[in-house]
Amino acid sequence: MAISPDWKSSNRTIQILKAAEKGKYGVVAAIAYNLEQVFGLIRAAEAARSPLIIQFFPWAITFWDGLIVRAAAGAASRASVPIAIHLDHAQDEAVIRQAADTLPFDSIMVDMSHYDKADNLAKTARLVRYCNERGIATEAEPGRIEGAEDGVVDTAGLEASKTTPEEVDEFIATGVDSLAPAFGNMHGEFGGTDQLDFKRSIRRQIGKRVTIALHGTNGYPPDLMRKCIAAGAAKININRLVLDDYYSHLQSQVGKVPHTTLIEQGVEKVVNQTKEWMDICMSSGKA
Ligand SMILES: [Zn+2]
Repeated sequence: MAISPDWKSSNRTIQILKAAEKGKYGVVAAIAYNLEQVFGLIRAAEAARSPLIIQFFPWAITFWDGLIVRAAAGAASRASVPIAIHLDHAQDEAVIRQAADTLPFDSIMVDMSHYDKADNLAKTARLVRYCNERGIATEAEPGRIEGAEDGVVDTAGLEASKTTPEEVDEFIATGVDSLAPAFGNMHGEFGGTDQLDFKRSIRRQIGKRVTIALHGTNGYPPDLMRKCIAAGAAKININRLVLDDYYSHLQSQVGKVPHTTLIEQGVEKVVNQTKEWMDICMSSGKA
């Protein structure tokens, strides 16, 4: 299938992030594991009149066989606000090709950070081209964000390595649309505020060439999130910040209320926490 040469002007992830960069707000890019969470995220975006990115780990393909991705993309296309569907931390080349060929992703994070730098750059460039030929935008991680997320194993076990200006240039040369810089942020548990390096001025290094994705936000207080947005982050990867109340609710209510009630109340928990973070990220009212 031939793709229009200016497909980027209609790619949903690119358009959502460009608008956020211009408007100086952040867009919640929330991981979903099940349909209640997908539904809650979309209802929150519509209630807050906010753009949204729904993210999945490759687990949504390898376990769910893409079902949850298709469901989310269908709901996103019917939503009254802009919603993009993104594949986070795709580390397996075959899975990336499968996702690009068969699933309705607007963007894919091509994460080859478990290879040495030369291989990482070569593979990233090749996979970026593969995705772009199918109208799919890409994100990559120069340097290395330490830690591990649910469903994504940190295979290399390397020391935290902060993104350098050279890496910024090398990765932009691969053709990616977004970069997730490592500036002391960590996946998994909150690593604390002190080790975050705001002096690197990644924004200045990157300029307006690509948009910036912030990873590793579990446990972030609102003021720190705002500081990252002020420093240039447009795509705000969020995992537990919008799901904690959902899990506490399940824990306390399972077996005590009818299953339908459990689901409905669980969705409501996701809606409320997501709306809070859309307010904090200042994307509410921007759709
Ligand atoms: Zn990440």
